[in-house]
Order: sequence, then C-alpha cells, then structure tokens
Amino acid sequence: MDRMLVIAEAQDGGAPISEATQKTLAAARKIGSGGLDLLFVGAGLDSLSEKAGSLAGVERVFVFDDPRLAHPTATMVAGLVSETARSYGHVLMPGTSFGRDVLPRLAGLLKVPMVSDVLEVLEARVFKRGIYAGNVHTVVRVPDGIPVLLTVRLASWRVPEERSNNAIPVERRPVPAHLDESARFLELAVDSTVRPDLQSARRVVSGGRALGSRENFALLEKLADRLNAAVGASRAAVDAGYASNDLQVGQTGKIIAPELYMAFGISGAIQHVTGIRDARTIVAVNKDPEAPIFKIADFGLVGDLFEVIPELLKAIGQGTLQ
Ligand SMILES: Cc1cc2nc3c(=O)[nH]c(=O)nc-3n(C[C@H](O)[C@H](O)[C@H](O)COP(=O)(O)OP(=O)(O)OC[C@H]3O[C@@H](n4cnc5c(N)ncnc54)[C@H](O)[C@@H]3O)c2cc1C
Repeated sequence: MDRMLVIAEAQDGGAPISEATQKTLAAARKIGSGGLDLLFVGAGLDSLSEKAGSLAGVERVFVFDDPRLAHPTATMVAGLVSETARSYGHVLMPGTSFGRDVLPRLAGLLKVPMVSDVLEVLEARVFKRGIYAGNVHTVVRVPDGIPVLLTVRLASWRVPEERSNNAIPVERRPVPAHLDESARFLELAVDSTVRPDLQSARRVVSGGRALGSRENFALLEKLADRLNAAVGASRAAVDAGYASNDLQVGQTGKIIAPELYMAFGISGAIQHVTGIRDARTIVAVNKDPEAPIFKIADFGLVGDLFEVIPELLKAIGQGTLQ
C-alpha cells in the first residue's frame, strides 16, 4: 500500500522519456515512502526499459503496450490502469493536459479525491498547491486510509540530474480485448514552426498589445529567432489577432518556467504574471515606468519597444550581445 506509482506522460516509444515524466518522478521521490514504479501506456514501447534504467529511484516498470494504444485517450488509460493503481499508496501524473485529463477519471473509478497542481511536497500526505490560477498557495492534507492521487505542477519541479544504470525489470501487462473507446483519437495537428516549443523553451520572447499589428509581431519573432527563443504573447495580443492562440502565456494560456522571459509592451496584469512566476530571469521593456510588470522584472527598461528591439537586433548582429 505504501508504494508509489508514476503514470508516465503519453509518449512515442522511440522518444526520450519526457521531461514531464521525469519531473513527476522528482516529486514522487520527495514523498519518499515505499518503492517507486513507473507505468507507460502506448505502442512500440520496447526500448523504454533501457531508457527507464537511467532514471534514479525507479524500481520497476510496467507497460501496457498495444497498437491500439498508439494515441491513448484519457478514458482508455484510466480504465486500463485502475486495477494496477488500486494497490498503490500514491499515484502521480504530470500536470499536463494528458495528466489533468486522466487522473480525475482514475480518481472517479477508485472513488477517492485527488490533489491537483502540487507545487511542493511537505509530508507524504501534505501538499502545497496553487489555487486562483496559482495566485494563492494552499496546504492540503489527504486523510489516512485512502490512496493519494496527485498531479504535479511542472513549472515548480526540475528534471533530476541524478542518473543510475540499473537494469530495471519491465513487466508487460495484458491489454484486454475491449478498451473503452467512447472517446476516439482522430488527428494530431502539429505546429510546423521550427522555433522551440513555448512550454519547454529555455528562452521566451513575448509581446503584448503594444505591438499593434501582426506585421509588427514579426519584429518580435525576428528577435526570438536570433536568440533561439520561443515566442509568447499576452491575451490582448492574441485577442487582437497579432499572435496565435497557442502562444498565449498566463492564467488561461500556458504556465511556463523558462530561464529567460523577455516581455515587450506587456503591462503585467495578474493573469499574465501567473504564467511566468517561475521564470528564472524576467526582462521587461515598457514605455510606462509605472507598468506593473516592472514589479516582478529582474531587469526593466523604460523605453519604446520599436526602438529597443532594432537596437537589440543590431547588438546581436555585431556580436556585442548573444
Ligand atoms: C479571466 C481572465 C483570464 C485572463 N487570462 C489571461 C492570460 O492567460 N494571459 C494574459 O496575458 N492575459 C490574460 N487576461 C487579460 C489580462 O487581464 C490583460 O488584459 C492582458 O494581459 C493585457 O495584455 P497586454 O499587457 O498586452 O495589454 P495592455 O494591458 O494594454 O498593456 C500594453 C502595455 O504596453 C505598453 N506599451 C504601449 N506602447 C508601447 C511601446 N511602443 N513600447 C513599449 N511599451 C509600450 C503600455 O505602457 C502597456 O503597459 C485575462 C483576463 C481575465 C479576466
């Protein structure tokens, strides 16, 4: 009952084990009690056992591997793993859209509550989590005698540096003939941009309403490309059609934790700041010295972005900035 189970982020068998899964393992190790097992659901997962061997702390790996699980849906996964999950003291998933979709369903099947968005493990049953879009932290305790189900807020955890080279036993679990296909995978629309992914990028260059047009947003994209950064946007910029919806950063967009976040012409509304609280260094450029973004910025520059960005591009071109 004391063992912990991490259900991995859905992933292609050929890809490296996702950062989301590794961060969730970090949270599990912080809980610390009992052994730690890792469970994958997917198709063509043969090479995962070797990769899982490098993950510190993992003792056993279970796989549900079947061609029908190439694109597992939340209903399928919750039904499939419920029997396995039942025997664990803690079940964890990454706070990705996949984890946030699967775990509440699993909690429903097991008839237990769940804790979402865990920022910090205080004790084995006591967690700090964000509420009101991460603007308030609250401490919750899961009562004794029931399994603890939780999703992990990825921006608050780091990929563990510690590696091991254990040979981990991999147990293939039988996949039943009948899978819950009440929701079915139809299509994956992949963004064709070559820029780093906003959610995992080390650097993000973000623009707000002040950009004024989609054409002007291209200036920001040029800077992002020179810095090998992802592009982000405020909701005002997205609503005005300057940037696509998937680039929105904030409460109703993406919560990110890059090493560098550069905000151009973004006022710093609470709903935007919610998305960048865990960024390591925040740089803000705004022509209003009273803009709230300066309260959280590590470096602030009062100025016109239409002058500052060309200057930055020039400095990068001359090699005085990299
Ligand atoms: C329920 C809810 C959810 C929301 N979710 C989100 C969310 O996820 N993400 C989000 O971003 N917002 C969100 N919002 C909207 C949020 O409240 C703000 O309206 C929005 O963030 C403002 O975007 P902005 O900073 O680009 O625009 P503005 O607030 O209009 O700020 C523009 C800034 O640009 C500066 N500026 C103007 N011209 C220049 C120039 N030439 N050079 C430099 N600076 C200049 C101005 O001084 C100003 O500070 C949400 C709101 C609600 C109610």
